[in-house]
Amino acid sequence: MRFSRLRLNGFKSFVDPTDLVIHDGLTGVVGPNGCGKSNLLEALRWVMGEHRASAMRGGGMEDVIFAGASSRGARNFAEVSLQIDNTERLAPSGFNDSDGLEIIRRITRDAGSAYKVNSKDVRARDVQMLFADASTGAHSPALVRQGQISELINAKPKARRRILEEAAGISGLYQRRHEAELK
Ligand code: ATP
Ligand code: MG
Repeated sequence: MRFSRLRLNGFKSFVDPTDLVIHDGLTGVVGPNGCGKSNLLEALRWVMGEHRASAMRGGGMEDVIFAGASSRGARNFAEVSLQIDNTERLAPSGFNDSDGLEIIRRITRDAGSAYKVNSKDVRARDVQMLFADASTGAHSPALVRQGQISELINAKPKARRRILEEAAGISGLYQRRHEAELK
């Protein structure tokens, strides 16, 4: 599975619809301080089902919605769409019947988040499991946040094990076991 396109609308500083085509070989984003580089990475993590507002550098999840600026008012919703090239049919079962996947997450003030995969309503958990099984996901070690390297060095063994499990592609199994134990 390859990320092919990321679209943002009303997400943090990306108030106007923004369309980012992800070509092969993209390894980094550069730009002046405050231009939105970290926001882009957070959008990617958010659409994959991140549920911790702290990971979005906010106090509550609605903080991802454009909060307004001197010249323009705040927005009432934020939406991020992630398109995935699945021509090699490597998506996890249940999502593997088309050449492309589009995951959309939208948050509306006072109404929370809603998710769609290829226009069909799904639960947050479905999206989280899709990416957990694909070894990417909101907590994937493939996305390196600012400050994350020093966090990894200082992490407790249990937290470090989670990262290795995600990289090994077994975090979906871990989550299912945890849910089974709760039942
Ligand atoms: P640096 O190089 O310093 O790491 P960066 O390119 O990573 O900068 P970001 O942290 O992605 O920059 O963007 C910060 C900008 O996003 C700030 O100007 C901040 O005001 C703006 N921003 C964050 N959340 C919102 C929001 N909800 N509404 C409007 N603007 C926001
Ligand atoms: Mg940054």
